[in-house]
Amino acid sequence: MRIGIVGAGPSGSYLALLLARGGLSPVLFHDPKAGEKPCGGGVTAKAFDEFPELSGLAIPGVRVDRARIVSPRGRAVEIESDRMFEIFAREAFDGRLRGLAREAGARIVPSRVARVGPGPRVGFDGGEETFDLLVGADGAFSIVGRSSGRPLPKARLCPAVGALVRGVNPAEGAWMRFYPGIRGYLWVFPRTDRASVGIVAFPGDATAADLRRRVAEFLRRSLPGSEVLGSYGWVIPAPGADGRPLVPPLEDGVALVGDAAGLVDPITGEGIYYALASARLLAGAILRGRPQEYPALLEETLAPELARAGAWAERYFKPAVLEAILAGARRSRRVRALIADLASGRQKYSTLPDRVGASPAGRILARVFRTFLAA
Ligand SMILES: Cc1cc2nc3c(=O)[nH]c(=O)nc-3n(C[C@H](O)[C@H](O)[C@H](O)COP(=O)(O)OP(=O)(O)OC[C@H]3O[C@@H](n4cnc5c(N)ncnc54)[C@H](O)[C@@H]3O)c2cc1C
Repeated sequence: MRIGIVGAGPSGSYLALLLARGGLSPVLFHDPKAGEKPCGGGVTAKAFDEFPELSGLAIPGVRVDRARIVSPRGRAVEIESDRMFEIFAREAFDGRLRGLAREAGARIVPSRVARVGPGPRVGFDGGEETFDLLVGADGAFSIVGRSSGRPLPKARLCPAVGALVRGVNPAEGAWMRFYPGIRGYLWVFPRTDRASVGIVAFPGDATAADLRRRVAEFLRRSLPGSEVLGSYGWVIPAPGADGRPLVPPLEDGVALVGDAAGLVDPITGEGIYYALASARLLAGAILRGRPQEYPALLEETLAPELARAGAWAERYFKPAVLEAILAGARRSRRVRALIADLASGRQKYSTLPDRVGASPAGRILARVFRTFLAA
C-alpha cells in the first residue's frame, strides 16, 4: 500500500515511524523552510506513559515538577508533582521524531506540498506522486484538508500568540495565568535556553492584538528581567462538546490526523498527545489492512475524553469557578495534587467524578469541583 503523509510534525513523523516499523514504506513530506512550530512544547506525563519512544528521544528538555497557577483575580497557588510535563523546543522534538521515522525506513521528501488532487495525488517542488492513501498531518491550515473539502471551521480556531524570552529561570517551574473574560490561559513554559510565554483564548474572546498586549504586560510586570527574542502567533483548534474530530477524519482515500483533524484538548490546549494518539490509531488500522476503521477508533478511544473536556471547558473558565478551585487548592493538599494530576494528564477527565467522590476529602473536593463537574 502506497502511503503519503503531508507534514512532519508529531502526528506525521510518528505515523511514518509506526508504518515503517510495521514493514510499509511511507513517504513523508517535510517542509524544510517552515521553521519551528509555534508551540509551548509541553509534553505531559500521560504522553510519556503512553508513548515509549518519547523517553528515548535524547534531546534536551526541561522537566517541570512545579507550576504556579494564578487565578483571574491574581491569587497564586503552587502545585508540585513529579515530572508533570517536560518542555522541548519543537524544532528538536519534531526533528528527532522525523529522524526516527527515517531510520525505520520512511522516505522523507524535503519539499512543501503545493497541490493536492484526486487520486489522491500531491504536487510538490520536484514532482508529483499518487498514493493509495494520503494523510494530512499538516496542521490546522492543512492543504490536504482544504483540498479535500474539509477545512477546519474558523469558528473553532483559537488564537494563540506569544514570545520566546530569555532570562527565565527554568528552576522556577512553569506558570499558568488566567484572566477574566478569557477562556484560555497564559503560560510560561521554560526551555533550556529560553522560555515560551504565550496565551490562548477561545475565538471571539480577544483579538490576536489584545492577546499580544497581555503577554507584553505580563512580561513587564511579572518577569521584568526577561528579554524578548522573537514572537509567534498561530491557532489551536478546539473540538466541541461531542469530542469528535472537527472534520470527517477519513474520506475518499484521504485521512487527517492531529491538528488537521482538530484533535486538541480544549481546556489545556494539549495537542501533541492527540497528534501522537491519532497517528497511532491510524497506523494500527492501516497495518491491520483496515484503514476504514480509523474514524470508529477515534470515536471509541479519544472522543470520550475530548467530549468531557469540551463539555466542561465553558464552565471551567468562568472566573468564579476558577477562583473556587484555586482557593480550594490553597487550602488543601489533595486539591493541589488533583490539579497537578490534571495538568500532567495522569488524571483522566472521565474518571475525575469518581476520584472526587471516593476521596476521603470528598466534601471539599466535591464543593470545589461541583460547578465544574455538573455537566
Ligand atoms: C502557541 C501554541 C502553543 C501550544 N502549546 C502546546 C503545548 O505546550 N503542548 C501541547 O501538547 N500542545 C501545544 N499546542 C498544540 C500543538 O502545537 C499541536 O496540537 C501539535 O503540534 C499538533 O501536531 P501535528 O503534527 O498534528 O501538527 P503540527 O505540529 O502543526 O505539524 C504540521 C507540520 O506540517 C507541516 N506542513 C504544513 N503544510 C505543509 C505542506 N503543504 N507541505 C509539507 N509540510 C507541511 C508543517 O511545517 C509542520 O511541520 C500549542 C499550539 C500553539 C499554537
